[in-house]
Amino acid sequence: MKPVVALVGRPNVGKSTLFNRMTRSRDAIVDDMPGVTRDRHFGDARWEDKSFILVDTGGFLSNDADSFASHIRAQVELALEDADYVVLVVDGKSGISYYDRDLVELLRARGKSFFCLVNKIDGEKHEVALNDFYALGVEEPFPLSAEHGYGFSDFMDVLTADM
Ligand code: GDP
Ligand code: MG
Repeated sequence: MKPVVALVGRPNVGKSTLFNRMTRSRDAIVDDMPGVTRDRHFGDARWEDKSFILVDTGGFLSNDADSFASHIRAQVELALEDADYVVLVVDGKSGISYYDRDLVELLRARGKSFFCLVNKIDGEKHEVALNDFYALGVEEPFPLSAEHGYGFSDFMDVLTADM
């Protein structure tokens, strides 16, 4: 059985862009509109001699802040059911949001260990943005650019190290 990796995070942090890079497909829907991926999306990913199943979680369109948070949470709960590895994706351009903290709390409550991936670090000079994310209480936030590939191979090495 291949291990299952779930990408979780609030809408618009770049989960689907990362899904596409990891699966080398254009399958997941990437859009400027937050929450455009409505359902879970499964794909095959490979890194060197390791293969795994990747799950992209969507968001839901809602303007009501409370139901927005609970919809994100519900998506994550679903993803956690199958996941062997969890990648919490956050946005290095916009910094920590309320929803990031909420998801960290949820993951901790479920006893799930996770990788904290700081996306939209499009090059070395953006790495300073990483420091903010230690406030989430994570051991090591990883810098990455799903769009441009910066940090990708380093992160893939870490993610697949124990597979
Ligand atoms: P999702 O809602 O988490 O699935 O996010 P998407 O993958 O749909 O991306 C949301 C927006 O962020 C899109 O406009 C992407 O082009 C943009 N984006 C994704 N990854 C990166 C990145 O590494 N750098 C930058 N600058 N923008 C990104
Ligand atoms: Mg998406």
